[in-house]
Amino acid sequence: MRASIIAQQNAPVKFPNGFFEICSNQLHLPGLVISIGTISIVCSSAFCQSFGATMKNSEDGTDISREIAIIGGGAAGFFAAITTAEANPKAQVTIYEKGHDFLKKVKVSGGGRCNVTHGCFDPEDLAARYPRGSRELRGAFHHWQPVDTIAWFAERGVALKTEADGRMFPKTDDSQTIIDCFMDTAYDAGVRLKGGSGLKSLKALPDNTFSLELVDQTLVAADAVCIASGSLKSSSLTHAMETLGHTIEPLAPSLFAFNLTDKRTHELSGLSVQNAGVKVLPNSPEQIGPILITHRGLSGPAILRLSAWETRRLQELNYHFEIAVNWLGKKSRDQVRERFTKLREREGETLVKTKIFEEIPRRLWERILQAAKVQDTTQWAQLSKQAETVLTQELTAARFKVVGKTTNKEEFVTCGGIRLKEVDFRRMESRIVPNLFFAGECLDIDGITGGFNFQSAWTTGRIAGLAMAE
Ligand SMILES: Cc1cc2nc3c(=O)[nH]c(=O)nc-3n(C[C@H](O)[C@H](O)[C@H](O)COP(=O)(O)OP(=O)(O)OC[C@H]3O[C@@H](n4cnc5c(N)ncnc54)[C@H](O)[C@@H]3O)c2cc1C
Repeated sequence: MRASIIAQQNAPVKFPNGFFEICSNQLHLPGLVISIGTISIVCSSAFCQSFGATMKNSEDGTDISREIAIIGGGAAGFFAAITTAEANPKAQVTIYEKGHDFLKKVKVSGGGRCNVTHGCFDPEDLAARYPRGSRELRGAFHHWQPVDTIAWFAERGVALKTEADGRMFPKTDDSQTIIDCFMDTAYDAGVRLKGGSGLKSLKALPDNTFSLELVDQTLVAADAVCIASGSLKSSSLTHAMETLGHTIEPLAPSLFAFNLTDKRTHELSGLSVQNAGVKVLPNSPEQIGPILITHRGLSGPAILRLSAWETRRLQELNYHFEIAVNWLGKKSRDQVRERFTKLREREGETLVKTKIFEEIPRRLWERILQAAKVQDTTQWAQLSKQAETVLTQELTAARFKVVGKTTNKEEFVTCGGIRLKEVDFRRMESRIVPNLFFAGECLDIDGITGGFNFQSAWTTGRIAGLAMAE
């Protein structure tokens, strides 16, 4: 009997220290061949058992019930692979990753802290945070939602904490904690990791199994395949998916900041307003939340949320459009006018430039007054009706021309992907090709910022993993 472990060069496969001898570009041991690059190790069962590797019989077929190929070693791929391997220890689960590093996005996620999920535990409420995929995820969240994610990590020794805005991070504030957890759990479950092994093409065979061609032209057989390749934008897999009969919904970036060239925000970089409102003109729904002025324009949760909900439309407009910002969030023009009337009556001699709204930083207030052409020396009693109208407008519906977008470095995601109608969300299985499964960002699902994108990767990975284990 032989066992095979295929590991990526720097994956933490637990070999005994100092055991290998490197010879040219290969490592040699009795019964063991390792080629550098993609490290493929073939060794005897006794050898493997000596350092605790999980044994799977790959030759006589008696121990292995199914060969499961997971395409993509990211969040969704690991969650699906671990789920299958734990639920069906006889299944031989292999993650094929095109890069030489696994879990790359997890590493950089949440500014290096990994915003794992969100403290939102009602499936309806949770699903409402997804501009695309909301309807399908509503049911899926009844199977796996943040409560389950939190428990899953806790069982594996990773405690999560919740921040004031609901975002959840590992208590260590370090994404490596999540990576270590996945690597250890995958190892314990016997998941094989194959780095530097991109999937080139995929053929569905008449007996509902698959033939996979990897980029190095290796052919691999699988009983079930899970596509967990992340964004399909500039992916070589789009053609393979279309050939199998799947439709790819148009791909567009989501979660981006808005570029402005506007005197009102020039050199105010770093200022933020906690509860501002913003909408795309003429008529998008308004997003309320923090807006951050950056050196390029506007960012912050309210802007990113708006970019997510309006992604398709903004792409059509080639990212040139107009927005209206209410620096006072939910305060209406009438409420602001009333406030001005009182100020005129009660504090007529006070200078208008004296800051009156707690929520607006002083330097922004000065810019707003400049935009409304209110002089530094103007007192409330002297403010003309016309100036008051312009000031009210600048406060509650300031128009800005957006002239492009900037990728948000903390988190971004692709809108579009595998058409959701073509997937059975009870199993995450293709309705077109039996035994073909999907998980994560390759689907036409994307969430707003806050841990929702990982949550959908965990949920879809979990459901696919359980179905593949059957
Ligand atoms: C900078 C950044 C920060 C982010 N931070 C957060 C956050 O804090 N919280 C949050 O919820 N979301 C965050 N996101 C979004 C989140 O990372 C993604 O939604 C999530 O990683 C999707 O998981 P996935 O497994 O579907 O795809 P990925 O994580 O992208 O993994 C897909 C893997 O498949 C591999 N692959 C692709 N094609 C092939 C092929 N043909 N063959 C083999 N392998 C292939 C890729 O190399 C990749 O490793 C962030 C995104 C970015 C870019």
